[in-house]
Amino acid sequence: MRLKLLLPTVEPSAYDEPSVCPYAQCGGQRFHVMQEVPKPVRDTVYREVTARRYQCWRCGRSFRGYPHGVSADQTSARLKGLAVLFYIMGLSYGAVALVLTALGHPLGKTAVYEAVQAAGERVAGLRREEVRISQARLLVAALGADLTSVKCKGEWLTLGITTDAIAGTTLTIDILDNGEADTLTDWVRGVAEAVQAEVLVSDDADGFKTAADENGLKHQVCKSHVVRNSEAWHDAMAPELARDADGSLAAIGVSPEQALADNDELLRLIKERQPTPEADAKLEEIHLRYAQAASPGKLKQGKETLAHRLRLFSLDRWKLWRRLTLYRGWRGPHGERMDGTNNAMERSIGWRVKERYRPMRGYKRRESVLNVSRLIAWAGNFLEVGGADLTAVIA
Ligand SMILES: [Zn+2]
Repeated sequence: MRLKLLLPTVEPSAYDEPSVCPYAQCGGQRFHVMQEVPKPVRDTVYREVTARRYQCWRCGRSFRGYPHGVSADQTSARLKGLAVLFYIMGLSYGAVALVLTALGHPLGKTAVYEAVQAAGERVAGLRREEVRISQARLLVAALGADLTSVKCKGEWLTLGITTDAIAGTTLTIDILDNGEADTLTDWVRGVAEAVQAEVLVSDDADGFKTAADENGLKHQVCKSHVVRNSEAWHDAMAPELARDADGSLAAIGVSPEQALADNDELLRLIKERQPTPEADAKLEEIHLRYAQAASPGKLKQGKETLAHRLRLFSLDRWKLWRRLTLYRGWRGPHGERMDGTNNAMERSIGWRVKERYRPMRGYKRRESVLNVSRLIAWAGNFLEVGGADLTAVIA
């Protein structure tokens, strides 16, 4: 996990003057300082700061103001920030409490838990219902989408994650009802419309193909995924094809040599991904060679024959071709290019959702899943711009 986190500071002599009376319906805007009173605080540097008691000119009521980094709470933003930082780094809530106590700044396990959860709740955006509001002006030409799962109270939850596939930032993290095509289509639609995406980038799961097509998005299927599973297919099939293990090649008049050559050729095309008419014609030619191979249903048997497997595989790759090679010619509205992978997504899932999750035995609350994942993803989005200032999420 790569993160840069900036701790909140405490500035005992810096006060923000109140701008409006905190009491409901007063609206007063003029105040005077009635009194300055000592305020004990738990912090890594100060034991005590000075709180101000203001009085409202309009309603006469008084309220307190605190210097930067201190609130009505007895713990400073800096100490809460340190607790959040240790937690994000991988310590459990209890371990954070122990470390802080050992450092001479005791903070209970519950206070650590509350600081982390509160910070997660304060993360702006990063949820599907808010992408519309908070990021309405953030246009994302290529939207990455993927699913992962985490355990919560013994139950597996499906998390849907979206990224800006070009900038690499995480856009949203939400719990989805399931990973079915209808659910993915609705979810992708909401985010894609809000950021005005033109392309969906995903793995080659059928649900994402539906989501792209139904929402009128161009689709780039991650080339790394497809190359990986094509290589596995190629290597597993080669020895079987070489000896026409079930005689199904002979049945359609294809020699083992031809089938091996086709197997190699398919893999070569997929590795090169040249969006040329020649490549398309070659895919068609290979597929048509196996188009006569009978399905298990027709043969009244349970097992796929080698020839039929080649028929399905070559058809799948031929149909996938457009989605596999889109990135070669696509340019975004500002000349952006894609690299054809969903690597931004792999980082989002690996670093923002899974790495902190790995040493845990699962979450206990659905809200914690979201709070912790969003907090880390939020911090990750500031990696290239100097780091994430925890002041923004700590009250
Ligand atoms: Zn007032």
